[in-house]
Amino acid sequence: MTYNAVETITQKRDGNRLDDDQIRWLIDAYVRGDIAAEQMSALAMAIYFQGLDDAELATWTSAMIASGIRQDFSTLSRVAVDKHSTGGVGDKITLPLVPLVAACGAAVPQLSGRGLGHTGGTLDKMESIPGWRATLSDEEMRAQLDDLGAVICAAGPGLVPADKMLYALRDVTGTVEAIPLICSSIMSKKIAEGAAGLVLDVKVGSGAFMKTPERAHELASRMVGLGQRAGVRTVALLTDMSTPLGLAVGNALEVAESVEVLAGGGPADVVDLTVTLAREMVALADLDVDPADVLASGAAMDVWRAMVKAQGGDPDAPLPVSRHTEVICATASGYVTRLDALGVGVASWRLGAGRTRQSDKVQAGAGVTLHAKPGDRVSAGQPIMTLHTDTPDRFADARAALTDAVTIGPRRLEPTPLVLDRID
Ligand code: URA
Repeated sequence: MTYNAVETITQKRDGNRLDDDQIRWLIDAYVRGDIAAEQMSALAMAIYFQGLDDAELATWTSAMIASGIRQDFSTLSRVAVDKHSTGGVGDKITLPLVPLVAACGAAVPQLSGRGLGHTGGTLDKMESIPGWRATLSDEEMRAQLDDLGAVICAAGPGLVPADKMLYALRDVTGTVEAIPLICSSIMSKKIAEGAAGLVLDVKVGSGAFMKTPERAHELASRMVGLGQRAGVRTVALLTDMSTPLGLAVGNALEVAESVEVLAGGGPADVVDLTVTLAREMVALADLDVDPADVLASGAAMDVWRAMVKAQGGDPDAPLPVSRHTEVICATASGYVTRLDALGVGVASWRLGAGRTRQSDKVQAGAGVTLHAKPGDRVSAGQPIMTLHTDTPDRFADARAALTDAVTIGPRRLEPTPLVLDRID
């Protein structure tokens, strides 16, 4: 059977299924350059409106995986488990989580990306550690995984090249939000990465991709389904992202907070989520230990230090600090009832912690530190946030993003629970 791009587009536009061979042909032809960008964008828009059913989505995802290399960690001395977060403000959980789960006995091959937009990227955070290098060869990565069980590094160009093309196209054609395209984009990379188990942290709320629990639930269930079909034990947690995680937002600021967690301190929400996700990962690896005990023992800190050193970083070097700060004070007395994740994320991004184009450089010390969170009592004039940047002309735009970000009321409201749902 021969297929053609225009017929494929109209078929999906009119709400009809694509067959398996047609999907495989399509992805392969797109990667080879035989389907034009405008045709793939039209199809992405048709999928945005008409969706893909579970069988179409599974075939689409495996066709994307087949566009590149698939790693195999089954010969490692430890079971490989991984986690993926759909991205949030102050979401530094990967940093303490990877060494913690490694200290529990699993291998965590965390292939990460750089940030785009208001959510930060793990590599940008790690690169604020003096000397740390994101790029490892396959051999280096394997050796480090065997030895320490922990790697955070850049995904190589061979991992799902179809996604690199498709994601760039979706970014400029208003089709990023299509649930089947998000599922296949994330899960193709995670399945190709070769872990035996995967925990998905699907964020819900103003600072997340998915603004409502309903959409987050749909995304999570479909990703769990894709993982299970591909033989990867997959679990998803839906977690709150209406307010930032922890008290630090920005690259070096988040590294410092992660190190506090590894040292046995740190904000309660960051510790709770780290331990909760670690318990899920350890269960998927069939290990019989409690990550809370391992964290308290200091073993995760030892792995962190070894992991940073193995990639050229100095875990004892002072982290970069921004040259300028500005304090924002409470405008009324009462309880913080809302601290909007999106506002804080955008402010941090505008201060220089994030990038607008992939080629932009980020400022390691830029970001926001929070001095109060929902549930805390504050007095008018009390500092509630500090803004950090090397370029003070950015303060005005950052302040503008925070205009409606904080609500102070007369009564304390119970903060939203961190874990909203679990899907397996
Ligand atoms: N992250 C990805 O990797 N892909 C998407 O489509 C959305 C978020």
